[in-house]
Amino acid sequence: MPELPEVETVRRVLEERLKGSTITAYELGRPTFYRRPPKAALAGLVGSTVEGVRRRGKYLILLLSGGKSLTLHLGMSGRVCLGGGGAHLRFRLVLGDAVVCFHDARRFGRVGCKLPRLGCEPLEPEFNGPSLFRALRARRAPIKAALMDQGIVAGLGNIYATEALFAAGLRPGRAAGSLSGADCARLAGAIKKVLSSAVALGGSTLADEAYRDPLGRAGGFQERTCVYGRTRGRCGHALKATRRPIAGRTSLYCPVCQR
Ligand SMILES: [Zn+2]
Repeated sequence: MPELPEVETVRRVLEERLKGSTITAYELGRPTFYRRPPKAALAGLVGSTVEGVRRRGKYLILLLSGGKSLTLHLGMSGRVCLGGGGAHLRFRLVLGDAVVCFHDARRFGRVGCKLPRLGCEPLEPEFNGPSLFRALRARRAPIKAALMDQGIVAGLGNIYATEALFAAGLRPGRAAGSLSGADCARLAGAIKKVLSSAVALGGSTLADEAYRDPLGRAGGFQERTCVYGRTRGRCGHALKATRRPIAGRTSLYCPVCQR
């Protein structure tokens, strides 16, 4: 599932390629997404010019002329490609010579959706030890589930939450509210470091999900993980999986380095 670094990579390519282009047509795939793009979101799209592309959590927002915008979410398996071709087309935008295709095998992606209430942007300065401590202190959920809750921190999913918890030396199953101020400061720093490094590498392309940027380029972070997708941690210790699933799946951690 694309997380903040993958979505940010897509954003950068789209902004570079589409800024200043005018939408000349759009088309829905047959079938389109499970949740059909709302008519109101598509009205007035043709003739609008792309003024920029923003990201909020895992959402992409095309900023259009006339104060309009169009929101995209890649869902579980969505891919945005520049140029035609490819299977599972759910939505397409034509901007003169440029074509943006939104492919999605599992159809959980969305176009024209409203943004839900989202938590802090982890790469912004407002996200830090004290703000994370305030957000977590009353929560009994496992820390990993809290980090993946988009209303608390926007943009983290399984890979980067797993990696950040390892970097901070914290076990994924610990109650979020049990973290001290010092733990939260370490964790906020680890989240920023892991995400920045993944953005710099163009995100992660896992064997089973095959994320690619809009120009078809794979990410490089999957080769740098310390825990995710490994049996032995980067620290050299054998990894363990949590006994109970967290946010629907078991989570890897190092029983020696994470407390
Ligand atoms: Zn270890």
